[in-house]
Amino acid sequence: MNADIAIVGGGIVGLATAYHLTLKYTDKKIVVLEKESEIAHHQTGNNSGVIHSGLYYKPGSLKAKNCIDGYHMLLEFCDENNISYDLCGKVVVATEKSELGRLRDLYDRGRENGLEGLEMLGQARLREIEPHLAGIQGIRVPQTGIVNYVDICNKLAEKIEQNGGEIHLNTVVKSIEEKDDEVQIVTNKSFVECQMMVNCAGLYSDSVAKMHLGDIDTRIIPFRGEYYELTAEAEHLVKHLIYPVPDPAFPFLGVHYTRMIGGGIEAGPNAVFAFRKEGYKRTDFDFKEFFGSLMWPGFQKVMLKYWKTGLGEMYRSFSKKSFTKALQRLIPEIKEEDLVAAPAGVRAQACDRTGGLLDDFKLVTEKRAIHVINAPSPAATSSLSIGKTIAGMVDL
Ligand SMILES: Cc1cc2nc3c(=O)[nH]c(=O)nc-3n(C[C@H](O)[C@H](O)[C@H](O)COP(=O)(O)OP(=O)(O)OC[C@H]3O[C@@H](n4cnc5c(N)ncnc54)[C@H](O)[C@@H]3O)c2cc1C
Repeated sequence: MNADIAIVGGGIVGLATAYHLTLKYTDKKIVVLEKESEIAHHQTGNNSGVIHSGLYYKPGSLKAKNCIDGYHMLLEFCDENNISYDLCGKVVVATEKSELGRLRDLYDRGRENGLEGLEMLGQARLREIEPHLAGIQGIRVPQTGIVNYVDICNKLAEKIEQNGGEIHLNTVVKSIEEKDDEVQIVTNKSFVECQMMVNCAGLYSDSVAKMHLGDIDTRIIPFRGEYYELTAEAEHLVKHLIYPVPDPAFPFLGVHYTRMIGGGIEAGPNAVFAFRKEGYKRTDFDFKEFFGSLMWPGFQKVMLKYWKTGLGEMYRSFSKKSFTKALQRLIPEIKEEDLVAAPAGVRAQACDRTGGLLDDFKLVTEKRAIHVINAPSPAATSSLSIGKTIAGMVDL
């Protein structure tokens, strides 16, 4: 097959990129190569469905810029295409005095990032808007919302095809060779010759980058995020999305309560090192992938640094009692019987050689390829902005 541009990966980042490329190049052949039999099968289809407002991210970072721009582009896309979303707002809650400084820093950061309507909440006001909460102080973020990202992907896919693009499912990219004037991508079916390739392979973005570049200085470490759903009887305990104050040393937000756009409330996700990249169950294990992570010098350093947190997360994965205890820090009335196990997701988190868990998004640009090396949360919120940025970088 010949194409002008091939995008590897039919998650939300790959689809948003393909969509913007079809808008930019109406006369070029643009193809998406996806290994599964459906789009959005991995991170995108198993996430929390939150439209992040940009509260957490370092001003000036790619995350801050793309989350804030992406937020507005996403709402506009939903409005134009009748996709339902709900700007239900969230509260970030300090439950101990030691968290108050970090809560204040978050508030300042949110204001620096241009968020509107942020409200610092004392205990009385917290109780007023979330009567069952245990917090001593909080921030209300009215712009945060919820959506179903699979709905957005389905609409993006429809638009890509309307614009002349193609989505090839069940197409696994196996190897990549760059020649003088083209890139040759070998798949399980045949091969694709193209002028430009964009790697949006999520959990396998490092493997796909290695197929092209030989080696890279990061590895994707998979972290499973497990969820429980609240029973209908317990749903009245949660009005907004409720988050703890995050640990700044760790790239995850801590277990929280999330309303879902289709109804119901999820609690989680935790962050457990997964023994397989697409390991949604505790028992999933892949020898090569497991040792690939363990042998990476950066991950060994991460384990040394965070072994206590890691073991705690793993224990919480097996012990519902311990998971419930973490949730009770926010809402003491929650009981084990209020929680029903729900499907997990696996996050792709890039880790460098020195043991740094990359905080910001990372793109690597080559003559004939752009590799999206790190696109963790809030990449679903940011996807339309990331896709537009990548389309702007392609020059054919
Ligand atoms: C548990 C969890 C909760 C999250 N919550 C939120 C949230 O509330 N809000 C938010 O904004 N973000 C959230 N995120 C982050 C967000 O979901 C991801 O950042 C985003 O979905 C990444 O999209 P992607 O397209 O890069 O990756 P993916 O959705 O993983 O897509 C990558 C695609 O590449 C395909 N692929 C891989 N290798 C190959 C190959 N060799 N050949 C062909 N295809 C290949 C895969 O099959 C997959 O479909 C969450 C993530 C998780 C896991």
